[in-house]
Amino acid sequence: MKYLEEFQNPDLAVRLLDDIRATVTRPWALMEVCGGQTHSIIRHGIDQLLPEQIELIHGPGCPVCVTPLEVIDKALEIASRPDVVFCSFGDMLRVPGSGRDLFRVRAAGGDVRVVYSPLDALRLAREHPDKEVVFFGIGFETTAPPNAMAVHQAARLGIRNFSMLVSHVRVPPAIEAIMQSPDCRVDAFLAAGHVCSVMGTGEYPELAERFEVPIVVTGFEPLDILEGVRRAVRMLERGEPGVENAYPRAVRPEGNPAARAMLADVFEVTDRAWRGIGTIPGSGWRLAERYREFDAEHRFSVAGIDTREPAECRSGEVLQGLLKPHQCEAFGTTCTPRTPLGATMVSSEGACAAYYLYRRLGGTPATVEATPVG
Ligand code: SF4
Repeated sequence: MKYLEEFQNPDLAVRLLDDIRATVTRPWALMEVCGGQTHSIIRHGIDQLLPEQIELIHGPGCPVCVTPLEVIDKALEIASRPDVVFCSFGDMLRVPGSGRDLFRVRAAGGDVRVVYSPLDALRLAREHPDKEVVFFGIGFETTAPPNAMAVHQAARLGIRNFSMLVSHVRVPPAIEAIMQSPDCRVDAFLAAGHVCSVMGTGEYPELAERFEVPIVVTGFEPLDILEGVRRAVRMLERGEPGVENAYPRAVRPEGNPAARAMLADVFEVTDRAWRGIGTIPGSGWRLAERYREFDAEHRFSVAGIDTREPAECRSGEVLQGLLKPHQCEAFGTTCTPRTPLGATMVSSEGACAAYYLYRRLGGTPATVEATPVG
């Protein structure tokens, strides 16, 4: 399969590993930003193949994991209404809110549907003009353009019974927050290649210069990850922070201009709370004022919700790279993909799910539902 098998070639992996071993002279901590990269690393054992001086820290780039509890609870309240068809990607159905999840809302009679595109939700709105159809719009810069397009289409076609519960997040402010944390141990970043395929690389040179860190735009296959690590280590050893693109087959410096134009039309930057981390200034998107009528929060007035994170869940520390999943006491005992205490155990990009699926000692294998990356 083109762009898959050739990027899993074991002979080339050995050569890249040899190059990394020959280059590294001291300990370095590299953060892979995206949960898709985390799963690739753990699944293929890349962290165990690297020289011991190199630690891979798992970053906060799982869209399901960072969606705040308050937003999940708002989704649950909206989805419980008898006049609502609530549409979401599959991962979100098992993410625990304060007391239940979307599966339980569906079991109790709520019309909750798994869709594979926001345009599916738009189609449902056209087919059911007597219903309010709400799409759960979460994710990073990768899922934001199609969501923006769905809202744009709803406005253009005059589909007034469609709305979106928006909780989009942006990567660069998260990198900034991580670097400003007093607990930060990150020496370099493997930036998320799919995010950069939309946004380009223009947001990163200023961050690299200000925090004096290498940022390497990196893909998702094993050779992509190893090439990202190789370049980051080379930059660190030379003392040369900056930005390199190790994923040129997908990422152009300018990104995707059409997608960026759609984002600029439909969304505006806002402060956003990240689950387990807190509010990061300028780290999210919300619907721009001219599209506010399609904002489900506005339409359904979901305010005054009391949110409660389970005290034993340490996903905030996992998402900041301060704790490895298996170091959480609940890991694999009271918290599994079937009985998750936190979103990082649910999502197909969650770090806790990755460790459970690929590195758990004993126990039965579990499945994690797939969702669009990003
Ligand atoms: S193992 Fe479960 S309880 Fe622990 S941090 Fe991960 S999701 Fe939370």
